[in-house]
Amino acid sequence: MKTFFEEISVSTRNRTEVIDITRHVEEITKKSVVTNGLCIIHSVHSTTAIIVNEHEAGLLKDIVKKVQQDFPKGAGWLHDRVDDNADAHLASSFTGPSRILPVKDGRLIRGTWQNIFLLELDGPRTRRVIVEVLGE
Ligand code: ZN
Repeated sequence: MKTFFEEISVSTRNRTEVIDITRHVEEITKKSVVTNGLCIIHSVHSTTAIIVNEHEAGLLKDIVKKVQQDFPKGAGWLHDRVDDNADAHLASSFTGPSRILPVKDGRLIRGTWQNIFLLELDGPRTRRVIVEVLGE
């Protein structure tokens, strides 16, 4: 089995933001020369998440709004006594730091309306996203 590991650096500009990283993940998958296998996309932070969905401007704003509604800032969270970002940790906990996509015939398998995004929850910051491609 082949493994190919690469890191993407993403600079975010807002506290809560959805950033499309599909192009980077597809380039890494191509570079890996893995024909059939899996691609793991993993963000190494406790206040980000990786999501897969449609890249439509309204939807990206809806995602930010939904995160803010479901995980309101300063709602009496205990972790806010430490560093004032409990809402971001909670949103990350329930969304998840990783996604796995299949690789077949050298291509990342995703639906027409499935792009890959880093969900920033406590920006702006520079974030690290690991892309590992496994297979043969
Ligand atoms: Zn914290």
